[in-house]
Amino acid sequence: MRLRALTFPVRHVNYAIIPQRLNPLIRSRNIARVVSGKPTVEDSPLETSLRPRRMANFIGQNKVKENLLIAIDAAKKRGEALDHVLLYGPPGLGKTTLAHIIAAELGVQIRVTSGPAIERTGDLAAILTNLKKQEVLFIDEIHRLSRAVEEILYPAMEDFALDIVIGKGPGARSLRLSLPPFTLVGATTRYALLSPPLRDRFGVVYHLDFYDTQSIQTIVRRSAQILQIKVEPDALVEIASRARGTPRVANRLLKRVRDYAQVKANGIGTRAVALEALGKLEVDAIGLDELDRKVLHTIIEKFGGGPVGLETIAASISEDADTIMDVYEPYLLQLGFLDRTPRGRMATRLAYQHLGIPYNKDKLAQQGLWGNSQ
Ligand code: ADP
Repeated sequence: MRLRALTFPVRHVNYAIIPQRLNPLIRSRNIARVVSGKPTVEDSPLETSLRPRRMANFIGQNKVKENLLIAIDAAKKRGEALDHVLLYGPPGLGKTTLAHIIAAELGVQIRVTSGPAIERTGDLAAILTNLKKQEVLFIDEIHRLSRAVEEILYPAMEDFALDIVIGKGPGARSLRLSLPPFTLVGATTRYALLSPPLRDRFGVVYHLDFYDTQSIQTIVRRSAQILQIKVEPDALVEIASRARGTPRVANRLLKRVRDYAQVKANGIGTRAVALEALGKLEVDAIGLDELDRKVLHTIIEKFGGGPVGLETIAASISEDADTIMDVYEPYLLQLGFLDRTPRGRMATRLAYQHLGIPYNKDKLAQQGLWGNSQ
């Protein structure tokens, strides 16, 4: 049904009725967004060279780093596998990088997979039985594992055991295979979507937060050095301030400034060149792009500042609710521009100030900016 709808001649497609997940209008916009923490095709060649390999090169997140190093050291001294680690936080903050670093610091191999890639229980069983002693299994987007697959994971995490059922019907037998002790590193952008039994099986849970300005500046400087980009210090500051506290975004903006400098300014990234390049991307001084502003304008102008439900905001701006939750909302919350209340999202005074809209609800009502949700 869905496929047929998508193969209609273009002029007959009503994009509004296509599920958001499959809607090419919505999907293409996500891909093009320069300040999204989610990886895009343009990032992949860069990420391999820029990804810190050891904890010493991993900038910021000091508490997480210290705790992990102690736990790794202790596990090595005991000759045991490290406790299972869950990393959660918005995309682009270094979860995958940390998983690789954990394996490197332990001196073991890492096997990498993701929730959506493990479709059947057999897929996970194959991965688990191929693990070697104390190796690291990294499951990205672990909240997207199916319930059946998750159930295989419970005894594997708890007892290093794999329960398999042989045969069908009344003659079926269950068999328990033992697995080598291993460390599961799970990463998720949605802690709340993880089922409680899965959460409980992680020995440690770390929340990665947005990086402070200083750390982001250090990351941009390091990346510029690795990529041998000539960027002046005050240009680095401008890039860092627009990076939304997200290393992946910082690296992407740096690359855009490099490209712009190469074409327009003999390869030298001065502050003026950086400002021009960043201006072309329509990212404002604190890293908000057109879509962030659209979310805020929608809440303020259509819904009187809120509270308004996430799904309603998503429908109003033809965006995917999951993307709003993963990509836009965490940064807007961090800036203090949004409040999450039990009745929905609300724009704060700071958001009004940033957009230059008077924070006066009576006046808004008179101007006709008051939404019908009030
Ligand atoms: P996530 O898995 O959380 O989406 P990644 O680990 O893939 O994020 O990080 C994205 C990119 O950001 C990496 O390729 C790396 O270059 C950079 N990065 C992330 N964290 C750091 C850090 N602490 N220091 C330096 N670079 C970082």
